[in-house]
Amino acid sequence: MRPPETLNELRRMSARIGSNILLVQGAGGNSSVKDGDVLWVKASGTWLADAEDREIFVPVALSAARAALAQGDERVPLAPNAGTTLRASIETSLHALMPHRIVLHVHSVNTIAWAVRTDARDEFARRLDGLAWHYLDYHHPGLPLARAVGAAIAQEAADVLVLGNHGLVVGAETCDAAEALVAEVEQRLALEQRGAPAADHDALRAICAGTTYRLPQDPRGHDIATDRYSRAIATSGSLYPDHVVFLGPGLPVLEHRESLHVMIARSTANGLAPPVALLVPGIGSLLREDASDGAEVMLSCLALVTCRLPLTARVNYLTAENEHALLNWNAERYRQQLTADR
Ligand SMILES: [Zn+2]
Repeated sequence: MRPPETLNELRRMSARIGSNILLVQGAGGNSSVKDGDVLWVKASGTWLADAEDREIFVPVALSAARAALAQGDERVPLAPNAGTTLRASIETSLHALMPHRIVLHVHSVNTIAWAVRTDARDEFARRLDGLAWHYLDYHHPGLPLARAVGAAIAQEAADVLVLGNHGLVVGAETCDAAEALVAEVEQRLALEQRGAPAADHDALRAICAGTTYRLPQDPRGHDIATDRYSRAIATSGSLYPDHVVFLGPGLPVLEHRESLHVMIARSTANGLAPPVALLVPGIGSLLREDASDGAEVMLSCLALVTCRLPLTARVNYLTAENEHALLNWNAERYRQQLTADR
């Protein structure tokens, strides 16, 4: 199947967007271009950052995808002769529903820092004034989110969708225009970062000596543990889907003077895997040795989001039901596996 010329432009733009941690973390985010009845969309589990180095796009039969969606079928039909073993992104329905030629979905940090709040409606209205935009409450990604998006844009067309507890979608006619629109929204929603006290690396090394834990590669991950406000937010619940998928619900804390060996033994005794990431209050963060690149980058993402939440913010957490739906979603297991194999 012959890809359109624009796909090369989309690859370059996707690689740029994908390598900016303030816009995309790991396998999150996706992009697409419509070419006649074919939707070229990012494949599930692939990273936008890899867009120029490997094939991350798959062709989807657009009208068939829209018809399946209308019937409540989440499975996305690839175009005939697609010639790939990859699956289309689990967020393909968003791309199929938006009428724009180019659609870009990002988990941008500034947008998320607003979109996890219940007290941000007036700020959105003020800051996004003049753009054609919608705000949508949190919906499980895939079919439920696609339904909500379909209803919103049927009421009034929009180029910008702010997804509650999730991220941002923009649609435009060209790659440049889509990238510029993401930059524009992020600039309008820009928040100041709160500085965090330094981590104690020696103390962390002593805590994880002889265990299956290690320090994160990105030192920013420690900020969630050393800044007490970020820590309070992070330990009170889950803010957005990819956090739950890659790190589990919320973030556990290793209590003062509790031994990491004891905590691991307790998890094992309860038939649970020890947590992928945990916080040592005032000291820093730890990751399990086998944590994937996807998990690494989700820890950094949470640090970047929580340090942008003011102390007065009223935060909306995902419910236990939302978390359960994310953790028991087969499509997500596939995506995680691909990310682990990257
Ligand atoms: Zn998303």
